[in-house]
Amino acid sequence: MSWDFSTDPDFQQDLDWMAELVREEIWPLEAVWHELGMDGLLRALAPVQEQVRERGLWAAHLPPELGGQGFGQVKLGLMHEVLGTSPYAPFAFGNQAPDSGNSEILALAGTPEQKARWLEPLLAGDLHSAFSMTEPENAGSDPTTLSTRAVRDGDEWVINGHKWFSSNGSIADFLIVMAVTDPEARAHQRASMFIVPADTPGVHILRDVPTMEHPQEEFGKYGGHAEIRYDDVRVPADALLGAEGAGFLIAQQRLYPGRIHHCMRWLGVARRAFDMLCERATYRVTHGKELGRHQTVQNWIADSAAEMQAARLMTLHAAWKMDTEGVAAARKEISLIKFFGAKVLCDVVDRALQAHGSLGYSTDLPLEAMYRYARGARFYDGPDEVHRASVARQILRGYEPPPDRVPSEHVPTRREKARERFADLLVTVTAND
Ligand SMILES: Cc1cc2nc3c(=O)[nH]c(=O)nc-3n(C[C@H](O)[C@H](O)[C@H](O)COP(=O)(O)OP(=O)(O)OC[C@H]3O[C@@H](n4cnc5c(N)ncnc54)[C@H](O)[C@@H]3O)c2cc1C
Repeated sequence: MSWDFSTDPDFQQDLDWMAELVREEIWPLEAVWHELGMDGLLRALAPVQEQVRERGLWAAHLPPELGGQGFGQVKLGLMHEVLGTSPYAPFAFGNQAPDSGNSEILALAGTPEQKARWLEPLLAGDLHSAFSMTEPENAGSDPTTLSTRAVRDGDEWVINGHKWFSSNGSIADFLIVMAVTDPEARAHQRASMFIVPADTPGVHILRDVPTMEHPQEEFGKYGGHAEIRYDDVRVPADALLGAEGAGFLIAQQRLYPGRIHHCMRWLGVARRAFDMLCERATYRVTHGKELGRHQTVQNWIADSAAEMQAARLMTLHAAWKMDTEGVAAARKEISLIKFFGAKVLCDVVDRALQAHGSLGYSTDLPLEAMYRYARGARFYDGPDEVHRASVARQILRGYEPPPDRVPSEHVPTRREKARERFADLLVTVTAND
C-alpha cells in the first residue's frame, strides 16, 4: 500500500530555490511595474529567465523534445503554487498564460510545420498568442452554442465571427480561433481550431475590455482581454489545428491541466493574503487586545488554514490522478477543485482584506487588487455552477432509485427486516425477560 504526501527531496530543493528567486527577484518588480512598462519588465526579467534556464526549469509544462522539462502535473502543480504568488513569476519560467496553454495545444495537435512556425518561437518568448473562443452573444459556459463560422473555400478557410475576452489578443502575434466548421455535426464535433496570424486582413481588434481587475480602458497591454471581429478572414487550409471537428477535444486536453495550474496559483495568492492576515493579527489592537486574540479573527485564521490545506490536497490529488490514470479519469476531481479552489481564494482574500479595514481597501496594500483578481476565478474556465453540476452528475451515476422508492436507510423498514433476520435471537431475549 502506498499513501505518501512527501515531495521528492531533489524537487523540494528546486521548489525552495524557486520560492527564494520569486520572493527576492520578482516580488520587488511588482511595486514598479507601472513605471517599467512591459518592455522594462521583460528586460528586468531576462537575467532571472537565464537562471531558470540554467537550473533546467524553463517551460516545464512541455515534453523535453520540445524544449520543456516534461514534468507531470503534481510537480507542475507544486511549481505553480510558488509562481502564483506573483503575477509576473510565470514569465520568468516560460509558462505564462495563455502562451503556456497555447503551446500545449500546438504540441498536442500541431503539424511539424505548425510547430516550427509557431511553437518554437512561442517557447523562445519571441511571439505572443491568444486563445479566442468566448463570444459576447453566446454563453461561454456552453461553448456548443458558438456561432463564429469557418467555411472552406478552395484552398482556404474563411472565418467570420465576433469574440471577446481573448486574453492578450491585442498584443498577440497569432490567435488560436475556435470556429464552427460543421453546424450539422454532433454538438461537440461542430467546431475546429485555426491558427490565425493577428495581421491577417479582416482581423479587427476592437478594444481591450476594461474589467474589474483592470478597470481603466487601455489598449495593447499584457493581460488585456480583447474584443475581436473576424470579418471574412482568409487563412490557408493548413491553418487548421488538429482534425476538423476536434476543437472541443483539443480544448479539453488544454483546459484540464490548466485548471490544476490555476488552482495551485490561486493557493499561492491565498497564502500571501493569509500571511498578511496573520501578520495583522499580531499587532493591530482593538478593544484592548490584538486582533489575533479576538475569536472571530482566530476563526478566520483557522478556517483559512483548513480550507487552503483542503484545496491543496484536493488539487494535488487531482494532479496525481491525471498523472497516473490520464486526463479524462480526473474529470470529477478537476471540477471539484475548480469551484472549491476559487471559493477558497475569494474567502481567504476577503478575510485578509476585512482584517486590514481601510488599509485593506486602499491600494497601499495588494489585497484590493487580489480581491478583484480573485472574483474572475469563479467563472473563467467554467463557472462554479457548471462544475458543481458536472460533479453532481458524475456522482449520481453511481446511484439508482431504491426498490419501491423507500429510502434504503428507512428505519421502520430496516427494523422489520432485522426482526425477521434475528427472530431466533429476539425470541430468546424475550424469553429471558
Ligand atoms: C479574466 C478572464 C479571462 C478570460 N480569458 C479568456 C480567453 O483567453 N479566451 C476565451 O475564449 N475566453 C476567455 N474568458 C471568458 C470565459 O471563458 C467566460 O467568461 C466563461 O466561459 C463564462 O462564459 P460567459 O462569460 O459567456 O458567461 P455565461 O455563459 O453567460 O454564464 C453566466 C453565468 O450563468 C450561470 N450559469 C451558466 N451555466 C449554468 C448552469 N448550467 N447552471 C447554473 N448556472 C449557470 C453562471 O453563474 C455563469 O457565471 C475569460 C474570462 C475572464 C473573466
